[in-house]
Amino acid sequence: MTNPVPQLRLNSGATIPQLGFGVFLVSPEETQRVVEDALEVGYRHIDTATGYNNETEVGAAIRASGIPREEIFLTTKLRNDHHKAGEAAGAFDRSLRMLGVDYVDLYLIHWPMPANDRYVETWRTFGTFAADGRARSIGVSNFLVPHLERLLAETGTIPAVNQVELHPIFQQRELRRFQMEHGIRTEAWGPLGQGKYDLFGLPAIQDAAKAHDVQPAQVVLRWHLQTGTIVIPKSTSRERMTQNLDVFGFELDADEMAAIDALDENRRVGGDPNEVN
Ligand code: NDP
Repeated sequence: MTNPVPQLRLNSGATIPQLGFGVFLVSPEETQRVVEDALEVGYRHIDTATGYNNETEVGAAIRASGIPREEIFLTTKLRNDHHKAGEAAGAFDRSLRMLGVDYVDLYLIHWPMPANDRYVETWRTFGTFAADGRARSIGVSNFLVPHLERLLAETGTIPAVNQVELHPIFQQRELRRFQMEHGIRTEAWGPLGQGKYDLFGLPAIQDAAKAHDVQPAQVVLRWHLQTGTIVIPKSTSRERMTQNLDVFGFELDADEMAAIDALDENRRVGGDPNEVN
């Protein structure tokens, strides 16, 4: 069967599967099994980070799957305490070693940490990882518009992706518009609200789920996909990871999309990028 997940073009020229699989808060003990399951049910895009403490197990799962490396889109992220040119280079080497790969598809600055004022310097170092091919694409995470404006003005290198908190309660409209204008893909973390907010009980989501005979989580993921966002839901349950991938057999109509658009409260459930330092 051909894989139904759309491939989106990044400004690096590479493509990214629009729906991937995240492993935040998956314990090292569980990670290999969970990622092997995810690959087996059909995911070909895995999102980890040095800070998740499970890069070794993600790499082990990729090797155990027998799937050729080039068929899997792999993202990892620089941990917050490794900003600064020299430290970022060492941290990237360690990530590649832990993952057991000679390149990643996407390397992200995990948080801007504006109080440290190092992200521009770190971003320049990321340019060297792209130049030597060990990071096929480079991007950022949790950057606000002013942080992106500084990168553009001071380095001229545009991130391929900004991975940010995004879900129906926190829709990031201004940031999405800015990124669209500058060729930066928007990737949603916490696409299901991290289970911290009862998204699934909201009438707009319940109604669409009933109308299409699907689960509320599938409606939320479908909304993201139809807005053009890249999504990386996490689940340790094989049943739910299968469900989260099974979102290409229905389409939300304009009224259903508008009802979910109307849920925006501009409210984060996670950390504020200006304050995470
Ligand atoms: P999600 O929004 O993906 O929510 C995960 C939660 O939803 C888990 O509790 C999971 O439980 C539950 N869940 C998953 N699928 C279903 C379903 N079909 N029905 C009901 N419940 C479901 O949150 P995450 O924080 O994990 O975000 C996704 C990924 O984004 C992360 O794994 C990570 O890769 C990335 N991320 C990046 C951040 C950054 O700063 N760049 C910050 C946070 C996350 P269960 O496992 O039991 O199914």
